[in-house]
Amino acid sequence: MSATLATASYIGATILFILSLGGLSNPETSRRGNLYGMIGMTLAVLATVFGPQVTATGYAWIIGAMVVGGSVGLYAARVVKMTQMPELVALMHSLVGLAAVLVGFANYIDPAAAGMFKGAEKTIHEIEIYIGILIGAVTFSGSVIAFGKLSAKISGKPMLLPGRHWLNLIGLLLVIFFAWRFINTHTVADGMIPLIVMTVIALLFGIHMVMAIGGADMPVVVSMLNSYSGWAAAATGFMLNNDLLIVTGALVGSSGAILSYIMCRAMNRHFIAVIAGGFGTAEGSAPAAAGAQPAGEVNPILAAETAELLRESKNVIIVPGYGMAVAQAQHTVFEITKHLRDKGVNVRFGIHPVAGRMPGHMNVLLAEARVPYDIVFEMDELNDDFPTTDVAMVIGANDIVNPAAQDDPASPIAGMPVLEVWKAKTSIVMKRSMASGYAGVDNPLFYKENNRMLFGDAKKMLDEVLVSLKS
Ligand code: NDP
Repeated sequence: MSATLATASYIGATILFILSLGGLSNPETSRRGNLYGMIGMTLAVLATVFGPQVTATGYAWIIGAMVVGGSVGLYAARVVKMTQMPELVALMHSLVGLAAVLVGFANYIDPAAAGMFKGAEKTIHEIEIYIGILIGAVTFSGSVIAFGKLSAKISGKPMLLPGRHWLNLIGLLLVIFFAWRFINTHTVADGMIPLIVMTVIALLFGIHMVMAIGGADMPVVVSMLNSYSGWAAAATGFMLNNDLLIVTGALVGSSGAILSYIMCRAMNRHFIAVIAGGFGTAEGSAPAAAGAQPAGEVNPILAAETAELLRESKNVIIVPGYGMAVAQAQHTVFEITKHLRDKGVNVRFGIHPVAGRMPGHMNVLLAEARVPYDIVFEMDELNDDFPTTDVAMVIGANDIVNPAAQDDPASPIAGMPVLEVWKAKTSIVMKRSMASGYAGVDNPLFYKENNRMLFGDAKKMLDEVLVSLKS
């Protein structure tokens, strides 16, 4: 393939990626957006593999790598459960970071690349390598820890080292110092020492940053690592002189940054506080105990009684959470919604921005179950409507409906906007036990007088509700 054709293909792929991002911003166009992304990526891979930079001897390596990578990807995509998606995404981010680190080192020791740059160009190339490895290493170790936390292999509690902000500052100063050392060395062997020291500091920073994040604040970190992985890819693009990688990385980096900003706003947190780590827990205060002790009496309800309440309602708001994903209850939720709507009940869905375990988690599940988009609302769009709602049905959600976020300034989730389900005439919380949610804090909603607890697996209980509704 000629260089011109490869460039034209890259431009085509870039346009498709932008269309893809545009499509993904709305549930109705998201399938099309995904399709654009897939076509763009196929075009990008083909243009790169058959482009002028690959020589005939390289094909065996490329095919080998694609077979291994493709098989692992295919296997992972087939076996991963919907509830494990966030962990898989975190793991994917870590691979982008690792790739940036490896490309950086390979680029630095590559004799061909070394001979290409002189004077100021050499310094710029070395800065690209340094920054690429730096971002890559933070992304890699941070994402591995995020994977551990999301899959509950590592405790979700924040690890707050004494003087952690000072540690971060010292790390930053050391990174700047070694950058200066690195660009002032004359041989590859001399340059390796500051490069390796910086890599170790960056890896430790990534671990420290994510270990310090606690409770309900993980979503911001996940979207932030998403953004970092984009910048790591862009840095790799600079190192490899690949325009498409630079543009694609910048698209992922900036859209991830916008998502992080949206998440920060949704959680009522400051972005800088997220990067410094340990937000969500007041300085020095003990983190929330996982599964904090219940404080009061609850009013249980049966599936048949729930059906009765729903049948008598005019306005119902359903608030789904992580438990709906675990139970795979979305199809039954749809059946119940359809039944009630057919009977003239106004049923709407209230989606909290951090419900579930990844951005848009609930929207994906509801779309899969074919719930109409026009009855799915964001938190801000219907939070004022609970006082005129007969039944607020909370399906496997916990932190996102916790009134302590508003009432208890000492709570680890204090200040986080929540869906005010307790303002409805009756709220019904569907979950299996009194266990706490991801943030590990007790939920005073359960003990409110107008709240009922429907204990059991969400799918099983909703099946029973549906049977009662139809009988
Ligand atoms: P929570 O984790 O707060 O609560 C989920 C509840 O679902 C649990 O209390 C659990 O109770 C219940 N549950 C689990 N399995 C089932 C089942 N089979 N049937 C019925 N209920 C079940 O989830 P929310 O969606 O309310 O809040 C999301 C939390 O996750 C927030 O703290 C958020 O910050 C965090 N998070 C979100 C991310 C995102 O990007 N959206 C990423 C990372 C973290 P029980 O065990 O008693 O059944």
